[in-house]
Amino acid sequence: MKLGLKSAVQSFYSDFQSNNGNEEEDGLDIARCFSLFFIHLGCLGVIWVGWSWFAISLAFFLYFSRMFTITAFLHRYFSHRTFKTSRFMQFIFAAFASTALQRGALWWASHHRKHHRESDTDNDVHSPHTHSFIWSHIGWIANKKNFATDYDQIRDFAKFPELVFLNRLNKLIPLIMAIGLFYLGEWISLRWSFLGTNGWQLVIWGFFISTTVLLHGTSTINSLSHIYGKQRFNTGDHSRNNFWLSLITLGEGWHNNHHYYMHSTRQGFYWWEIDPTYYGLKLLAMCGLIYDLRPVPQRVLDEGLKKKSNNEA
Ligand SMILES: [Zn+2]
Ligand SMILES: [Zn+2]
Repeated sequence: MKLGLKSAVQSFYSDFQSNNGNEEEDGLDIARCFSLFFIHLGCLGVIWVGWSWFAISLAFFLYFSRMFTITAFLHRYFSHRTFKTSRFMQFIFAAFASTALQRGALWWASHHRKHHRESDTDNDVHSPHTHSFIWSHIGWIANKKNFATDYDQIRDFAKFPELVFLNRLNKLIPLIMAIGLFYLGEWISLRWSFLGTNGWQLVIWGFFISTTVLLHGTSTINSLSHIYGKQRFNTGDHSRNNFWLSLITLGEGWHNNHHYYMHSTRQGFYWWEIDPTYYGLKLLAMCGLIYDLRPVPQRVLDEGLKKKSNNEA
């Protein structure tokens, strides 16, 4: 564990130095995961700012809209390339996703690709089976070993300098967002004082609380969805399908489906498996912003149905 100016600066430029696949030593580095502690601590600010319906509604809106950017862009685009888009739009997607404060798009996707290759083995970056539950949920993010972006895992996107820039300066956009929320709240308090909000209240609810809950919501897929739920497909790992997790993660809860076939845009394979991220992506495709959404192959759908009827028999 180390605390120092250099590592605190690195928490801002969180992966300024790429390790290019060479793992650093194991251990917690408090200063470099400063933002992780900072967003949790900031939630306590609610004691001083109180609440208003406007602030709570904004926190919900920012939770779900940013969850969409994580599942649609960080996961289904940057990690698995399940649809196509333009170079300009992929930059916009990465910029929006960085508001979630889950480091850069290239960092996120490079670790996720490793997870699929090594699911629930000793080499899995976040398995609740070969490591502890806490490790799979949050510990792995705070560990020195997992700070750097392994650009070898994500060469297809690392060739775009604008994405590497965003990946390195991934705290910049969340900072702008927090400042923007403050001024929005101050403006509202002057113009529409009946809403009972102000700058600091919007910062605490819209930035700190919403971002902290969003982090834990996302993390349930690494922890809970490898423990609780049903396994439709034999994937050789512990991935599960879980309806409740699919609600809070906008469709990511169909994790066993996804581990079995990771190349399709949709993760709820059947109409009864609710997948709001997929519906949102269909909408973006209708607007012409993305294209070539990859379907689930018929043989996979048939196999899933066969397993279902075998289980019911
Ligand atoms: Zn995945
Ligand atoms: Zn998984």
